[in-house]
Amino acid sequence: STFKELGLNEDLIHAIDDLGFVKPSDVQLKAIPILLEEDKDLVALAQTGTGKTAAFGFPMLQKIDVNSRTTQGLILSPTRELCLQITNEIKQYGKYCKGLNVVAIYGGASISEQARDVKRGAQIVVATPGRMKDMISRKMVDISKIQYSVLDEADEMLNMGFYEDITDILSHTPEDKSTWLFSATMPREVATIAKKFMYDPIEITV
Ligand code: AMP
Repeated sequence: STFKELGLNEDLIHAIDDLGFVKPSDVQLKAIPILLEEDKDLVALAQTGTGKTAAFGFPMLQKIDVNSRTTQGLILSPTRELCLQITNEIKQYGKYCKGLNVVAIYGGASISEQARDVKRGAQIVVATPGRMKDMISRKMVDISKIQYSVLDEADEMLNMGFYEDITDILSHTPEDKSTWLFSATMPREVATIAKKFMYDPIEITV
């Protein structure tokens, strides 16, 4: 299959051509059609380097409304480095999505600047759990209208002790959102999160 055959729109295909991606990777082939077609929950067992950022990034970019300034997509990742990396990738993938704003939220940098960037109207927020929780409690970010949430490297986040933060964050999001969980391994803690926050997820392994 080509990216076009997976159902991605012109703006995304244009960016994919610029990036020189020729063929969808395995995880992209499996995840993108599912995520585009219906608002289902997804558990994907996938390592880094498999193209998983695009596997959740493309469908999220296609499904959000860039004409709205509401925060609709939330991506949680374990580290500042990964958070910035995902943010950069999503910005590249969405470079032809006019009106798109993607904001990174992570510790060790100015919280007021991050809050200001979110207030300007970020449709997608990419965050580390600790800073995200902090900003929610200070009412610096509103995630009550989130439609798509991603738990990236879920096993790593739980290894780092973010279970409480993640459950706290997800409790501030709507029940009827879709949750897409990506993890390299499936330890009990990850299965617990999936059971607690996801409804009848589709499972894929790459
Ligand atoms: P990730 O697993 O999301 O960290 O992606 C690993 C790297 O693969 C990133 O640098 C992406 O830009 C690149 N990538 C993702 N999808 C593709 C693709 N279909 N073809 C070529 N490179 C890709």
